[in-house]
Amino acid sequence: MRITVFGTGYVGLVTGACLADVGHEVLCMDVDEARINRLEAGEIPIFEPGLERLVKANVESGRLQFTTDPTDAVAFGVLQFIAVGTPPDEDGSADLRHVLAVASTIGEQMYDYKVVVNKSTVPVGTADRVREAIAGRVAARGVEVEFDVCSNPEFLKEGSAIDDFAHGPRIVVGTDSERVRGLMQECYAPYIRLQEKLMFMDVRAAELTKYAANAMLATKISFMNEIANLAERLGADVEQVRRGIGSDPRIGYQFIYPGCGYGGSCFPKDLRALAHTAEQLDYSAELLKAVEAVNQRQKQGMFTKLRQAFDGKLEGKVIALWGLAFKPNTDDMRDAPSRDLMEALWAAGARVQAYDPEAMKECRRLYGERDDLVLVADRIQAVKGADALAVCTEWKEFRTVDFAWLKQQLALPVVVDGRNLFEPALMQQAGLLYYAVGRGDSL
Ligand code: NAD
Repeated sequence: MRITVFGTGYVGLVTGACLADVGHEVLCMDVDEARINRLEAGEIPIFEPGLERLVKANVESGRLQFTTDPTDAVAFGVLQFIAVGTPPDEDGSADLRHVLAVASTIGEQMYDYKVVVNKSTVPVGTADRVREAIAGRVAARGVEVEFDVCSNPEFLKEGSAIDDFAHGPRIVVGTDSERVRGLMQECYAPYIRLQEKLMFMDVRAAELTKYAANAMLATKISFMNEIANLAERLGADVEQVRRGIGSDPRIGYQFIYPGCGYGGSCFPKDLRALAHTAEQLDYSAELLKAVEAVNQRQKQGMFTKLRQAFDGKLEGKVIALWGLAFKPNTDDMRDAPSRDLMEALWAAGARVQAYDPEAMKECRRLYGERDDLVLVADRIQAVKGADALAVCTEWKEFRTVDFAWLKQQLALPVVVDGRNLFEPALMQQAGLLYYAVGRGDSL
């Protein structure tokens, strides 16, 4: 099949590369010329495990191409995937500017039947708006061209995006058209061994499914953080509680890890967008608001613990920071808890010595050169001459530490762990003051 993908970010590039890899011919279009130039030169603009190899192989095979030309892009595929960003607007709603810009482009350039497949995360009703935008442009040209719009939300996770795309538990397609069903079936056929995996549903249900999935996952995290905060105050170990409840198959082990709050490009913005939708409908979404509020508080938790450990005197202190990305295996720092911590530390006059295996470039891009931020080459350098250590991301390489060595490095020696990587007893034996999440040691 010939497929066009608009947007070459985490979702667009993974979608394009994966679909090319199973034999489709794919043209990826982006308005960001620098990004397309880099891709054409074989450079991958984002860090995503396995993506570089996949893109290179499929570019070499000729099945994956890149362009900035909208005319070529629209002419190319019968399927026109929209995978552009939907960042939060000031009021928390999803900003549909990029999605509607693509819709207009398609409407302006389309000469034969197209299925416009919306992969971006968008509020319920967006498919109608995309349809109207396209129809308006087509009508303005005084031509008649048939097209359909369907919803195909994406559930991949950064860090395991390729595997998720290829082996995710379901592919959701919202459409009421038999023709679209057939074409989407053809598109995803290489990924479908179990017929139930491809779920057709109404467009509005498909659009809501994406928000519901993210809201449910965020709810699990905030719930567990609430329990962790109680555990801390009660002198109970939340890790034992986690095992105790996760063993119940109705609850399960996934997504019940307490921590320093969820971040990333999706959960925070999608929760806010869904809450905004509820507001517009005059429905007060109490649970969604609480999930967000608990998360905001959780993101402040590490700073609160550090401030207490230093009796409120953080001025001039050097805090080592392990992990900047919002989770391991990505360089993405959008809404990352590390940012809340760094910004609070800077406001209190402390300096940060940070290391992350992948997100250093992104951190420099976000914050530029500043005296109170030193980015170092590895985790060992980060703790050299530091007063305390804070762990924000559970990268594998942070899990094994010589605690006696760590104690020698840190002036206080305080470790505030936002990811519960270590055994409190072992840390205490080594003489470290260890403050994890919900492990009975609140300051
Ligand atoms: P991103 O910011 O990484 O990439 C978006 C890309 O779209 C950018 O390269 C940008 O230049 C390009 N773009 C903007 N306007 C364009 C236009 N008119 N034509 C062509 N390209 C254009 O975004 P992302 O993380 O890939 O997310 C895309 C969508 O997928 C969002 O709605 C997001 O919520 C959703 N989503 C993201 C993830 C994730 O883990 N990142 C997972 C599931 C769903």
